Amino acid sequence: MHNTPAKRLPLIALLLIAGGCATTGDRGQPIIPEQYKTKTGPYVIFTNYALPTDDGVVKQLISLRAEVENTLGVHVEPGEHPIEVYILSDRKTYEHFVKFYYPELPARRAFFIAQGERRVVYTFKGDRLEEDIRHEASHALLNLAIGEIPLWLDEGLAEYFETTAPGGENKEHIARYGRDLEEGFSPDLTRLEGLKAVRAMTPRDYREAWAWVHYLLNESSDGRANLLGYIADLHKSTTPTPLSERLRGNPRDRAIALNGHVAKLAKPETIRENQPPATMTANPEPTLRLQNVPIEIEPIEPNPTKKRGFFSRMIGRMLD
Ligand SMILES: [Zn+2]
Repeated sequence: MHNTPAKRLPLIALLLIAGGCATTGDRGQPIIPEQYKTKTGPYVIFTNYALPTDDGVVKQLISLRAEVENTLGVHVEPGEHPIEVYILSDRKTYEHFVKFYYPELPARRAFFIAQGERRVVYTFKGDRLEEDIRHEASHALLNLAIGEIPLWLDEGLAEYFETTAPGGENKEHIARYGRDLEEGFSPDLTRLEGLKAVRAMTPRDYREAWAWVHYLLNESSDGRANLLGYIADLHKSTTPTPLSERLRGNPRDRAIALNGHVAKLAKPETIRENQPPATMTANPEPTLRLQNVPIEIEPIEPNPTKKRGFFSRMIGRMLD
């Protein structure tokens, strides 16, 4: 699974050159976009439609690079190998492409693949293009700036950077995390660090990874420094001391602190303003990263029949 798709990269390049019916869509356009090539920063974007320089996707990709660099203290330098971003014309074309070239992949709206010096993002022009492209381009930027990153952290950071909401707040994750806790879930960074296979990552694991990243970057007193130190070490070594062994306190206290952090994010703005401010002191193997939401699933609507969720009850208790 990990190896097979990456091995196809050269094959795709070959087919692009050779042409042929399998690479041509309904309207005679090549499935893999090649009509327009837009170079910007560390990226080269391939589309079958004209992409104005003030297009939302171009703006997002440019600002994303700055956000990643400024937040994590890393430097993205593409050199001779820019990140390749392929935006297929529509969902149907994209699904056809994935089925033909990557039949073993689960149906997702976007994915990132890296092998050697090539870093490639595939997605399609759809309603959530900017979010999807931010997620996958985050993987590409991190891979370029740092190299190999543990799966949980790679996904946690991509989830953090995919949203354009202030401070990486992902409302869907915040809402679902409360329900996870109701169902008996307890965060465990050591367990998360043990996940090695992309297919082993469940939607809940993505949420937990996002929550840890958000907590460490924004609230935990020693989290930010430890996370940035860990990322700097990952750049130098493939086996640095795991993050869970660098953080202060025992796992149970850290889990409670993490839940409290997400609970605060779930509070209405008026209540949150009264809280004290968050402490800010603080490859030969190919890499494959999947977008986390199955393609068929629509955005989750809040359940109108449920009056008070876990977080609202917790907030209620905190205010009592
Ligand atoms: Zn991802």
